[in-house]
Amino acid sequence: MTGTDAMAAIQQLPANVVNKIAAGEVVERPASVVKELMENAIDAGATRIDVILQKGGLQGIRVVDNGRGIPADQLTLAVASHATSKIRSDEDLFRVGTLGFRGEALASIGSISRLQIRSRTASDSCAAELEVVGGQVASPIPSAGPEGTSIDVADLFFNTPVRRKFLRTTQTEASHATEAFTRLALAYPSLHFTLNSNQRTVYDLPPCDSWRERIATFFGNELADSLIGVQSEDEQTCLSGYVANPAVSRANNRMQYLFLNGRFIRDRSLQHALSEAYRGLLMTGRYPVSFLKLDMPAQLVDVNVHPTKMEVKFRDGGRIYSQLLSTIRNRFLNTDLTARLEAPPPPGGEPPNAPSSTHRPPPTLPLPTTPDHHPSRLPAQDSPIPPFPPILNRLPSQHRATTPTHAEITTSPLAAQQEIPLPAVTLTTGPDAEPDAQPAQSGSDQAAASQAPSAMQALNRYLIAETEDGVIVIDQHALHERILYEQIRQKVLAGSLETQRLLVPEPVDLSSEEAAAILDARQLLARLGVDVQPFGGASVLISTYPAMLANWNPTDLLRLLAEQLTSSTKKPERRDLLDELMHMISCKAAIKAGDRLTRDEIAALLQQRELAQDAHHCPHGRPTALVFTRDDLDRQFKRT
Ligand code: ADP
Ligand code: MG
Repeated sequence: MTGTDAMAAIQQLPANVVNKIAAGEVVERPASVVKELMENAIDAGATRIDVILQKGGLQGIRVVDNGRGIPADQLTLAVASHATSKIRSDEDLFRVGTLGFRGEALASIGSISRLQIRSRTASDSCAAELEVVGGQVASPIPSAGPEGTSIDVADLFFNTPVRRKFLRTTQTEASHATEAFTRLALAYPSLHFTLNSNQRTVYDLPPCDSWRERIATFFGNELADSLIGVQSEDEQTCLSGYVANPAVSRANNRMQYLFLNGRFIRDRSLQHALSEAYRGLLMTGRYPVSFLKLDMPAQLVDVNVHPTKMEVKFRDGGRIYSQLLSTIRNRFLNTDLTARLEAPPPPGGEPPNAPSSTHRPPPTLPLPTTPDHHPSRLPAQDSPIPPFPPILNRLPSQHRATTPTHAEITTSPLAAQQEIPLPAVTLTTGPDAEPDAQPAQSGSDQAAASQAPSAMQALNRYLIAETEDGVIVIDQHALHERILYEQIRQKVLAGSLETQRLLVPEPVDLSSEEAAAILDARQLLARLGVDVQPFGGASVLISTYPAMLANWNPTDLLRLLAEQLTSSTKKPERRDLLDELMHMISCKAAIKAGDRLTRDEIAALLQQRELAQDAHHCPHGRPTALVFTRDDLDRQFKRT
């Protein structure tokens, strides 16, 4: 408190101050100007929009369009605050069909820069020009120019030095401006856009028919090729676009493009739905890549909740959340997402896609040229490491270069017992094996092997099997966990999870926080087959538990659930919690790495793999299997 002397009287702020305040909301940096001017051009029906930046837009920004233009007698109004041609009444606010509607952008920009507008409509015989310098509006003068509008913004923030200080390097500002350009050019693939920065053409994007094409122009063919189309529609909302194969991910969520009625938006809830859809498919810390469009009647969304309109408010956010989640999830279930080991290009420089994959592999590997030459079947150390090569990563490096993997597998005590001979064995016996040196017992077993999927266990944690076009290495824990997870999920959703009733309900002592969390989650736990009741103090009584966890002590299970429930600090949504608990149960119930498996167990696991909806990844996001195609192997052995 600074004393009792008179508090300043309340005064209406002068217009130039109001505009500067508004400018603070709308114009944060050059990129904001690029966005506002491009949006105006799109609203004006332009089919071609050129953006020119000087020094990342710090020195100058020019946006030229061939839209319908501004009549000379309205130029002054266009730069007045709260003047717009796009809405007329407050009701219009709830059915906004244009990108702009606040009538603030030009006034704001004019108050903190040197702004020049030159514009001509189809019915005017010549163009008109208007200049605004730091909010001072000059009179319009006749000028020459084509139909459309050209706007120049120079010396942004020249009269607000404090704001200017917040700006970053030219390069950073240029990249923000480019991002603003990208968002709009992505949203309107049918329009021609160009971006020129410091006298260099960065993008020249002619109109294109397909969205994928425009995406490819920005992010390259490799990314565009990894895109999986998604599409769903209900009476009100149409969702369409692409999500990237989980093999392609990013370290942040910046490559998640979401357009609502042609407007780029950021929506936390929908970002969450997206990451839910990828749950179990990405490693922690990785983010999905997506290009999605939502189209819905304007009345169903309020875009007037944020000055730059980047955030919106859906009338029925929950429904859109579910639509997005289920559309993508279902699409993934119909898509083969198996992780493929990408072989490095052969050093000889052969084309990577040599036409060699059309014929079926011969039953045995050809003889090597030198008997005592043991080429490693693992990629060289400096080869590009594929996304998740668990085996390769765990081997010490000297091991990789010198030890034939055969030794590691067969000297493992289990492998000796568990080995089920099948053609894959020829691979593990090393390249010096005679073609007819098949294991003696191969005859009958091979017949059996062709009926049921079979494999050998290696290192007590991997199953190795031959597939149609190569060899597959399966992580036994990850696969089992995935299978159980899918089973539990299906049953929980159908309300048909089998439960086991305890003969005598068991009291379990917990901390009071845990007891409260468990009792809070009672309904949720009931869906998982866990029935609990309060039992005084910090104790709860457990009377049923999932039959799936028959070998489990119900007390331990409850403790674990309590831990899980209290450890989630961020208070996830209900749906999350259920999923989390399902993951936990499947993880706990699954066989572990290090568990020896019997032949029957291996066979059962592989059989269920075929049935599991998404057996390619365990729920934690590690792949359950790596595929080495014959071509991959041939390349590694330099056979091609
Ligand atoms: P808003 O876009 O919210 O209406 P702006 O301050 O961005 O507010 O623009 C004010 C008005 O100027 C617009 O409503 C439009 O009538 C006119 N205008 C601005 N830019 C253009 C343009 N490139 N082409 C045609 N008219 C424009
Ligand atoms: Mg505008």
